[in-house]
Amino acid sequence: MYNRFFERRRTEAGWEPESPQLVLGKQGAELHFVQTKTISAKKIVESKQDPELVTVAVDLNVKFLAVITVRQHGRIQATRFVSDKGLDQHRYRHLKRVAKKQWQSGKAVKGERSNQQLWAHVRRQNLDSAHKTARAIVEVCEQYPGCVLIFERLRKIKRKGGSTSRRLNRKHANQLKGKINQLAKEKAYASGVVSVEVNPHGTSQYCSRCGAKGMRFSLVAGQRITGKGGKLFCCSSCHFECQADFNASVNVHHSFFRGAPRKRQRRVRKPRLSEYLVCT
Ligand SMILES: [Zn+2]
Repeated sequence: MYNRFFERRRTEAGWEPESPQLVLGKQGAELHFVQTKTISAKKIVESKQDPELVTVAVDLNVKFLAVITVRQHGRIQATRFVSDKGLDQHRYRHLKRVAKKQWQSGKAVKGERSNQQLWAHVRRQNLDSAHKTARAIVEVCEQYPGCVLIFERLRKIKRKGGSTSRRLNRKHANQLKGKINQLAKEKAYASGVVSVEVNPHGTSQYCSRCGAKGMRFSLVAGQRITGKGGKLFCCSSCHFECQADFNASVNVHHSFFRGAPRKRQRRVRKPRLSEYLVCT
């Protein structure tokens, strides 16, 4: 298809055109216009020694698809929250309908597919938000040339408990995480940013300020409800409180630098909760 997007991509600076390739598929033939670009980037080990290095860490979640934090000289310089804009709820409603229909119609005939339009809709929405989130991550990276993009190695999340639609929704949310991860890496590399994956151990459980184990909680009508799925994080040792995903994102930086010991900072002032809840 020859359109303005195609034209824009073809004229983008730095990309070398190669000879077009004909790809034969089951349904028809496609002409692929291949473009290549040579990327020069430092090795991770080299850039780790650089005291000026900027690291961009991403924590992928369900409600906030990505929490991006930028760190330089041991301090957080910028934070960006990418919300799912109600996608999780929206998808859950669709999946509930699918699950109900399946239950009503009994066991499906093998090889026959049902609710095709609904599935296509869900798939499209997932892919669209994956692209948008990946774009947002790369936009942050582009502001800091030579930075390193850090992801957590994706965890395998066990899908148990809850209704069929709930489990299905979890599955989709996990697939979306993987997609964002993959797309962000590709897009970042095209603009010369190298990405790494770090060990996800305990990023959501430990305090990003002092390293002690903390707990998650939620505020419901002014009451603190402690629980695993809490939106906020509280450190039991230094009483640091912040948004739980933000805490996890800052911890990703620590996982990256774990080789070199981190300076311990003692703060006298107890940080106010509201300071860390400002979305940018
Ligand atoms: Zn602490």
